[in-house]
Amino acid sequence: MIVDKNSEGNGCGRVEVGGAVFGAPRLVLIAGPCTVESREQMLEIACAVKEAGASMLRGGAFKPRSSPYAFQGLLGKGLDILAEARERTGLPVVTEVLESSHLSAVAAVADMLQIGSRNMHNSVLLRDAGATGKPVLLKRGMSATIQEYLYAAEYVLDAGSRRVVLCERGIRTFETATRFTLDLSAVPLLKERTWLPVIVDPSHGTGKASLVPAMARAAVACGADGIMMEVHAHPEQALCDGDQSETPEMFFKVVRELRAVAEAVGRTV
Ligand code: PEP
Ligand code: MN
Repeated sequence: MIVDKNSEGNGCGRVEVGGAVFGAPRLVLIAGPCTVESREQMLEIACAVKEAGASMLRGGAFKPRSSPYAFQGLLGKGLDILAEARERTGLPVVTEVLESSHLSAVAAVADMLQIGSRNMHNSVLLRDAGATGKPVLLKRGMSATIQEYLYAAEYVLDAGSRRVVLCERGIRTFETATRFTLDLSAVPLLKERTWLPVIVDPSHGTGKASLVPAMARAAVACGADGIMMEVHAHPEQALCDGDQSETPEMFFKVVRELRAVAEAVGRTV
């Protein structure tokens, strides 16, 4: 398989997205709200995370919600706001694409396409996203084995893209005290099996803002190439995932802590 560490024709283990390089000594910090809620909200948080040291911006315009009655995102308007946030901050943008029919609109704005946990098994979307040639952030399915995850990445690679980044975001277990169980063993394991960069999302992985800093530090310690973190100026007012969102102050503090851990494992922030 192309995804295999020792395969012919594999990539170099680095994925560049608008100046951020996944797999380089310097870690990539992706930060921003779960969801683009308004222009003011997005621009405010974009500037705050940039100042705190983020290297990329996140924010969903098309949201994969568990309930069909929950806020589904600002859709095209959300994409316009993300484009403006990039212009303001200079930070490249990653945002989720929910289905193939949205690909041209999302790819026109996003520097990197996010394929979410709920879509990891959607082989049609995986192929179509890979065929755009855009970098793809592929999140692990919440019930996917490592082998299934690698097959999903293979779909994107086989469609022609060589710019795939993996993201461990927690899996379903019997435990209910956390939203998901963050499988940090996936990081060194994926690095043994594949040449792709691997990042960790401790926000969805725990569901609790108080646990995110410790799991982010652990992720860096075990070799992650970056962190994706939800940050909101007013988590208690967030339309989605407020419980797991850091404030800009908390994010600033995490970045400082990550700097120390990164140094201990020969990386920088
Ligand atoms: C997200 O990052 O916005 C998201 C919905 O995450 P996941 O697909 O991992 O649930
Ligand atoms: Mn979220």
